[in-house]
Amino acid sequence: MFHEARIKLTAWYLLIIMAISLSFSGVIYVGVNNELARIESFQRTRIQRIVQGFPAPLEVSQTPDADAINESRLRIITTLALINFSILILSGIGGYFLAGLTLDPIAEMVDEQKEFISNASHELRTPLTSLMTEIEVSLRDKGLGLGQAKKLLESNLEDVRNMNKLSNYLLKLNKLGDGSAKLEFKKVDLEQIVEKAAENFNVKFNLELSKSEVVGNEESLTELVTILLDNAIKYSKKGGKIIVKTSGKTLTVQDFGIGIPDNDLPHIFDRFYRADSSRNKVSVDGYGLGLSIAKNIIDSHKANIKVESEEGKGTIFTVTF
Ligand code: ADP
Repeated sequence: MFHEARIKLTAWYLLIIMAISLSFSGVIYVGVNNELARIESFQRTRIQRIVQGFPAPLEVSQTPDADAINESRLRIITTLALINFSILILSGIGGYFLAGLTLDPIAEMVDEQKEFISNASHELRTPLTSLMTEIEVSLRDKGLGLGQAKKLLESNLEDVRNMNKLSNYLLKLNKLGDGSAKLEFKKVDLEQIVEKAAENFNVKFNLELSKSEVVGNEESLTELVTILLDNAIKYSKKGGKIIVKTSGKTLTVQDFGIGIPDNDLPHIFDRFYRADSSRNKVSVDGYGLGLSIAKNIIDSHKANIKVESEEGKGTIFTVTF
């Protein structure tokens, strides 16, 4: 698909360059030809005057004859044709190269989108399959009691909740990713945002909050803090210490949990990336999307995020606005 587009783009580049080059050649030829015609008519008049007995200002042999003028005309046409042919070849090669450069980032984006869709479908299929299997097995079970049916519905509800969470993540990523979400920015108190986000968890955080005022979108920043707090809880021992600090233009979330292996660190902000250590833990649910959403929020605020982590010791996320 991209090869065809590259050829088409090259053809368009060629068409435009050749149209310009041929127009200039036409103008040059017309100009030179007029000049040659003027010399020709000048010479004709002079010969007529000599024939009529007027004295010649120059020897006739010193002025170009008709053959020489025609030869000049031919030479100009040949030179212009050669120039145009060279432009055709060079711009063909250059155009093909430029078309490649133009299309490369688009091809990369399409590949990323394809991978994203395939990952998203895969993640959606898992809870859907489990839902289907559970329902089918239960429907076949003639002696299904009310208690069992209730349990089944609870489990189904859990799957539906997971799918809902995933589709919300995907929508958010899509909106933030292409910049179509028009975020309203205003001065907000980061410490208040942290307090509000922390209240939604059933966990006690060590909050060390000093005055911190930044320009940002309150909803997105609450989402960002929620993601960092959620991860700190998920990847720590139950009841483990979690310190959250705000000061000046900085937010820090520190946990003393499992930490992130060095080789995973460069990838944790990639979509659907989960370190093996967390993927292997069945109890830790997640899709590997939280930190990519966090990164998009950080980018939309032109802020920075830094991660320091040591396996088995814990992790510190520092966001600087
Ligand atoms: P997930 O839904 O898996 O938590 P995230 O995008 O939020 O997805 O995080 C990506 C990966 O980064 C996680 O799977 C985990 O391996 C690692 N990670 C993120 N935060 C922490 C943390 N506080 N401690 C240890 N590992 C973390």
